[in-house]
Amino acid sequence: MGQRIASPSKKVLQRFAALILENADQLALLETIDMGKPISDSRLIDVPGSAKCINFYAEAVDKISDEIAPTDPSAVAMVVREPLGVIGAVVPWNFPLMMASWKLGPALATGNSVVLKPAEQSSLTAIRIAQLAVDAGLPAGVLQVVPGMGETAGQAIGMHMDVDMVAFTGSTEVGKYFMQYSGKSNLKRVSLECGGKTPHIILPDCPDLDKAASAVAWGIFFNQGEVCNAGSRLLVHEDIRDDFIARVAKVAAGIQPGDPLAAGTKMGAMVDETQTDRVLGYIEAGRAEGASIALGGNRVMTESGGYYIEPTIFSNVDNSMKIAQEEIFGPVLSTITFKNVEEAVAIANDTIYGLAGALWTRDVSTAHKVARQIKAGVVWVNCFDAGDITTPFGGFKQSGFGRDKSLHAMEKYTDLKLIWLQLD
Ligand code: NAP
Ligand code: MG
Repeated sequence: MGQRIASPSKKVLQRFAALILENADQLALLETIDMGKPISDSRLIDVPGSAKCINFYAEAVDKISDEIAPTDPSAVAMVVREPLGVIGAVVPWNFPLMMASWKLGPALATGNSVVLKPAEQSSLTAIRIAQLAVDAGLPAGVLQVVPGMGETAGQAIGMHMDVDMVAFTGSTEVGKYFMQYSGKSNLKRVSLECGGKTPHIILPDCPDLDKAASAVAWGIFFNQGEVCNAGSRLLVHEDIRDDFIARVAKVAAGIQPGDPLAAGTKMGAMVDETQTDRVLGYIEAGRAEGASIALGGNRVMTESGGYYIEPTIFSNVDNSMKIAQEEIFGPVLSTITFKNVEEAVAIANDTIYGLAGALWTRDVSTAHKVARQIKAGVVWVNCFDAGDITTPFGGFKQSGFGRDKSLHAMEKYTDLKLIWLQLD
């Protein structure tokens, strides 16, 4: 990546990461005030995770080289990667700082400028880190933050003739708009990290039912269920359903909503009234379609004036129901039973989404086979939501395309150029 001589130096990005950590308390507070997640999550997950991400790409700057193709010796064919130019990064409100960092790290490290549009509910940390980037030595204008509504600021980025690529995280619906904006403007490149309806499969030979129940509960109730890869569909073998739901409910009892600013809170508030109504609407739809509630189902703590929904479990869902097909983006788990592995895989794949999947089994061949059969960007075996900045993240099908995290994320912010030098 020779052109990265024009990119911000490794040191600038390293300082940027260091400044994020130095300002961790403030950034965590801004994030929690903005979108309602527990302050301990903001402080222990979002902020350090964002700094780690920026630092990973800072370190990558001087560790990747271009290629010389193995042509006939009469030529030197250099295959080089060049930055695209101006990247529009459009991100959602559920992990505002983290989603921004997943775009900023690789986009800046490959030598691009970035125009970042945070979600209108959650612009504070985006604005603050742009200041920190300047303090770290990033030249003025290389990172710009444009807060505003999606229909105006987001669309303007999508339609702009001088934006070379849009890196989007958000809903599948809005992701499709960005494909249209690209077609109607300059054919800008688009990468999409969209929604999900992750199947979390518990096979009868699950090695540890309590461990799995804990993973299922945290997999859907973490971050108030406002997680793109949330394990929102529990696929459990029919013989162990009741016992397993009881185990999940026991864990969920310890994940009740509370004041996001209190240190011990494990589940915070929904981002806003619109999202609260949307989630309650889905709970109503589940009831109307005949699903039974095994746990929760209500808005709580109304006296606080905040938007809190308790962990909710539907016990007898059919995969054709709305609550099994549509992304709820809230603390609502839909339980679906199956009779054998083949049926579990068929149900898992019966969705427009393909962001993630998980299965619990002690049989190593089942693990390998099912992991290959699930159409999703990541499959977890005997764990949930495991990952690292070194591993790629992104979806199959209508969960989008392109990957965040890992060295692979750098590819989409560059174009390949061939320079063929004829020697004789
Ligand atoms: P969203 O409504 O799709 O919005 C995402 C971003 O797009 C926001 O900045 C939004 O701006 C903007 N936007 C909205 N309408 C637009 C339009 N017509 N033209 C251009 N831009 C527009 O998603 P969200 O409600 O913020 O977040 C929840 C969704 O994000 C879920 O579907 C979730 O699965 C997905 N998500 C995916 C991942 C992943 O990595 N796959 C990660 C996190 C979240 P405003 O909000 O300011 O209007
Ligand atoms: Mg929005």
